[in-house]
Parts: sequence; C-alpha cells; structure tokens
Amino acid sequence: MKTASQIPRGYAYLLIGSNRLPLKPAVVMRGVGGFDHFITSIVTGKDILAEKLRTNYPMHTTSQDKEDFRNATHCKLCNKWLGKDWMRDHNRLSGKYRQALHNKCNLQLKQRKIIPCIFHNLKNYYCLLIMQKLEKLQDHKISVIPIRMEMYISFSIRRKMEKVNVTLQFVDSFQFLNTALQKLVENLYQSKFIIMQNCISLPHMDKLLKKGIYPYEYMPSFRKFEETQLPPRSAFYNSLTNDLITEAEYEHAQNVWKCFNIKNLGEYHDLYAKTDVILPADVFENFRKFTQNFYHLYAAHMLTSPGLAWQASLKMTVVKLDLFKDVNMHLFIEKVIRGGVSMISHRHSETHHPQCPIYVSSKENLYITYLDANNLYGWSMSQPLPVRDFKWLSPEEISQRQICQTPGNSAVGYIL
Ligand SMILES: [Zn+2]
Repeated sequence: MKTASQIPRGYAYLLIGSNRLPLKPAVVMRGVGGFDHFITSIVTGKDILAEKLRTNYPMHTTSQDKEDFRNATHCKLCNKWLGKDWMRDHNRLSGKYRQALHNKCNLQLKQRKIIPCIFHNLKNYYCLLIMQKLEKLQDHKISVIPIRMEMYISFSIRRKMEKVNVTLQFVDSFQFLNTALQKLVENLYQSKFIIMQNCISLPHMDKLLKKGIYPYEYMPSFRKFEETQLPPRSAFYNSLTNDLITEAEYEHAQNVWKCFNIKNLGEYHDLYAKTDVILPADVFENFRKFTQNFYHLYAAHMLTSPGLAWQASLKMTVVKLDLFKDVNMHLFIEKVIRGGVSMISHRHSETHHPQCPIYVSSKENLYITYLDANNLYGWSMSQPLPVRDFKWLSPEEISQRQICQTPGNSAVGYIL
C-alpha cells in the first residue's frame, strides 16, 4: 500500500580533486525540478572534469623531487630493483613529480578515464531515481552491472560519439562501509574531517560532525522554506519508520539553527543538504586514504569491498591465477563455496566421566568442551589454495592418493 510519495526538493554535491579537497564550494540547490536539475548539473560537472582528464600537464620538479629521484633504488610500482631502465613518473593532472619507475611499469600506469560519482546507499535508495532520469539522456550511453532486476552494483554513463571517452561511474560507498552514516561519522576523529574544515569556516563546525536532522514529512510544499523558525518536535515524525526524534536530537537541531544564525527553513535545508554530502565525503576520503596507504590500491576505482579485498589479495600474494578453461571447473568451485555451520544443535548435554558424582565405568566417557574460536574466516582465507595447472582426477586416482594426509603447504593441492 502506498503511504507516502517522495518529491525531491533540493540537492547538494561536492567535487573532490585528486588532492582530496573540494575543487569548489559544495553545490547546494533547492526549488522546483530538483532532480532534473541535479542530473543536468552532474553531467555538466562530468564534462568539465572530463576536459581536465584529457589534459596532460608537463612535469615540474622541486629540488627535493630531484634528490628523491637520484636516491631511488626500487621501482614504486613493482618493488623491484630499478636497474638501468628507469624514469620519472608524474601526475598528469597536476604536473607534480610522483616517483621513480621502470619504463615498462610507467607504461602500464595509465590514467583511467573514469570519474567515480559516490553515493552512500546508492544501491538501495537513489539507484532507481537516478536511472529513470539517466535513461532520458539521448546523447549518453548507459552501462550497468546488475545484481537483479532494477538493482545494480554500479552503473555508468558516457557521451556517445566522443573521441576520448570519459565515463561517469556511479558507486555506492555503502558497499565498502556497510553501516549508517551516523555510525561512520562517530568512528572518525574530529581532526580527520578535512573537507568539513575546508568547507565550514565557522567556530561551530563541531556541531555539524553528526548526521543532521530534517523534518522530511513536514515539507510538502516549497512555501515551508520561508518559515522563520524550526517546527515543533512532532514535525520530525517519520511515518515510514514510525519514529520520532528524541528530545536531545531536537535540541541539537535547535542549536544548529541558533549557532549558524539560520533565518528560515530554506537556509536550514541548505545547511542540512551540505552537511549530508560533506560528512560521507570525509568518511570515504579517509577510507580511500587508508586503502591507498596500506594496500597501494585506489578504493574509488573499485565497486565493492569484496572487489577491493580480491585486488589486495592478488597484489599482496603476487599470485598469478590460472583461468579455468573448462566451464565445469568453474561451476564445481561455485557449488562447493559455503559458510561453516557453527552451533549447538541440541539444547541439553550431560557429561559422563570419572570426576562426575554418578559414574558407571561400563558406560562410555562423555566430556563437554568449551571452545572459543574466533577469526574463522580470517584463518581460512589465509590457508594455501591451488592456483594453477588445474585438472580433474579420475575416481581411481582419487582412491590411490592420500588426499587427507597432504600438508597444507604442499606443492600440490586438492579441491574437494
Ligand atoms: Zn617496476
């Protein structure tokens, strides 16, 4: 049964540069045609960034860069001895010197012509709304990576008939950071909110370091934007979740109104929308920085955390996985993937051994063992697995081999 309809009243977004800071102040808009305006706006933003991606700035080096290059011994990409065939690598977007690389490694290090457009909870909420609008873009081609009907891991658009194609790829940060924004914000130290510090110069910035509160259902018409005070707490009721904000949350909303000298609900909307993009941007940038420092991988160009973990495992183990040439091998592996069962399957158990008050020696001994095993997935994922030269074994070959006695680190492994 339809209980509510949602009409976009405004939007906000941020363009983040390669230096992890906003390229310009947050774009905030409110008014009629919000969603169409949003799509037009991000397509225009994409075209401007695309032009930058097509530009190749010449390298400039400082005296420190020159010294770093002279002292370099190993290639930053493959970690091998530089030898004789090496060169300077630089950021094509800024012209800044980056590192010393082998010539062949430098050739592999290409600037991807993809601009990630990141939403928190894209898959479950914004996805359909955006897709309906993107379909109307006649001059763009849409590509999707589906999960099932009308649900996508990611989708992207790029202009038709373009010489150097630049793609705008929609990515869901919830697929990396699988929790509510409020929780993610709480997990971050105040000093880590670099984008917030960059965008909000007022002394009350700390008031915005939590998910904002907004009376969605109180705002059915644009006229409400002109109201000059915060509506009563009852206006913050959410009929979809049957929730009303707490006294403390209402007090927080009033504090924000006062501290930021807000004149009407329109200004309150703008601040809420702005905060609602700055907070996830800071959270994701910190995550991106962490994965880049730790794995030397760029999370913004992945689509999910399993994808990132897969790339990290390939990079850290330097394993070269053989591709299956037999589709039945692939199906066999898929069929045997399962989680372990970990539970007590009955409610009552009794011990029976010599230390028990009632003991009958003719009966079998029974013990209850307390096991506290943790990191089961972590342990199993760090065990060796066969990686190449896959082949089927006949029933005779299987019976002849002592498969269960094979050590975990044996050169030959089996998948059962
Ligand atoms: Zn190299």
